[in-house]
Amino acid sequence: MIIEKLPSIFEPARPVLQKIEDAGFEAYFVGGCVRDTILGDEIHDIDIATSAYPSEIKSIFKRTVDTGIEHGTVMILDHGTGYETTTFRTESGYQDYRRPDSVTFVRSLSEDLQRRDFTINALALRENGEVVDLFDGLGDLKRHLIRAVGDPNERFNEDALRMMRAVRFASKLDFVIDAPTIDGIKKNAHLLEKIAVERTRVELEKLFLGQNPTAGLKDMLETGLYQYCPEFAGKKDQLAGLLLNGNGWNLKNTDQVWGLLCIQLGLDSKQCVGFLKKWKTSNDTIKQVKGIIEAVDAMHRHALDAEALFAAGWPVLEDANAVASIYGWQVNTEELRNEYDNLPIKDTKELAVDGRALIQTAGIKPGPMLGKIIKQLTHEVVTSRIDNYRDLLLKRAEELKQEKG
Ligand code: ATP
Ligand code: MG
Repeated sequence: MIIEKLPSIFEPARPVLQKIEDAGFEAYFVGGCVRDTILGDEIHDIDIATSAYPSEIKSIFKRTVDTGIEHGTVMILDHGTGYETTTFRTESGYQDYRRPDSVTFVRSLSEDLQRRDFTINALALRENGEVVDLFDGLGDLKRHLIRAVGDPNERFNEDALRMMRAVRFASKLDFVIDAPTIDGIKKNAHLLEKIAVERTRVELEKLFLGQNPTAGLKDMLETGLYQYCPEFAGKKDQLAGLLLNGNGWNLKNTDQVWGLLCIQLGLDSKQCVGFLKKWKTSNDTIKQVKGIIEAVDAMHRHALDAEALFAAGWPVLEDANAVASIYGWQVNTEELRNEYDNLPIKDTKELAVDGRALIQTAGIKPGPMLGKIIKQLTHEVVTSRIDNYRDLLLKRAEELKQEKG
């Protein structure tokens, strides 16, 4: 197969490949960028593989950066753009089911393509548009099939993350996983426990953000892969509840993904913390998801008042509404934005008095009382019981001091 006109993203990289070829080596675009070109999907990054060793690449190009030289990766700097090139390699060992014990640089493209996970990811593309397809990846792209390169059992035994990648691509591309590959996942699912949670998490997030997340989730449930994910063991029925939602959920970001998962698993804003920690999400994600859970709960109870809007803030409200819509609890998006915009203040910092003013002018002592008074003033301003004016707030603070003190 020859691609007559490569997408424009390849254009500036073509002279780089030509230069490697002129020096007597081979160079190809490989991996996801080739797959996505043929599918006509958006391409986000391009990977280049070459028969030249890192030292040879460095002698061909004046400006390079060693970005991962031990794996054969060198970045070529050309007209202000960096192109990562990786020397053809084979991998061996995999004693721990995840990382090869050693990588060996080789001169043959075919050996490099053989170590890749799926046939659709094992295509190479020459600078002149010629596609190299050793495992019928083109046929699988047409058939919409995820198929392991070689024996699935061996390949998943080498690197257990590939099983999560299979279900992720099933969702991302809306493809079907072929039967022997599914069997390979069933057989090796338990090995997923050997994989760093962070890596599994990234694949799960991509699954939920893909074109057909219900298909990917269904595969995870049917193959048993879910059991070896943090906190999913024994939760098949609850997770399967998500499948009732037809064609997916159209989630937009990872906070929404985790919000949905927590709510589906019945976790409240306190219980979600332990769950998210097991998945090793960031503290920022934990904070956002807690907000999402509370806002969704308020939507569900028809109790999304000024206080709840203020507590959640933006974009948590937008994320919560996306999750709530999966359960039919959503509110009108425009109204939500309007109500939020109309809040008297959106942050305690916008209060017309601060701690210092209360201490100096209203004679309140620093300490727990001060915190309580600020909280009460915020509450009264947010719920429009009092206008956000300095004099009014100072007067009210003195009243509160009498009441509470
Ligand atoms: P995406 O569009 O999500 O970036 P991708 O196919 O480019 O998809 P990457 O994770 O960027 O995926 O990997 C680039 C290429 O490296 C893959 O297409 C595949 O050929 C190979 N690859 C990546 N991870 C593995 C793995 N665990 N086992 C075997 N090959 C892999
Ligand atoms: Mg990629």
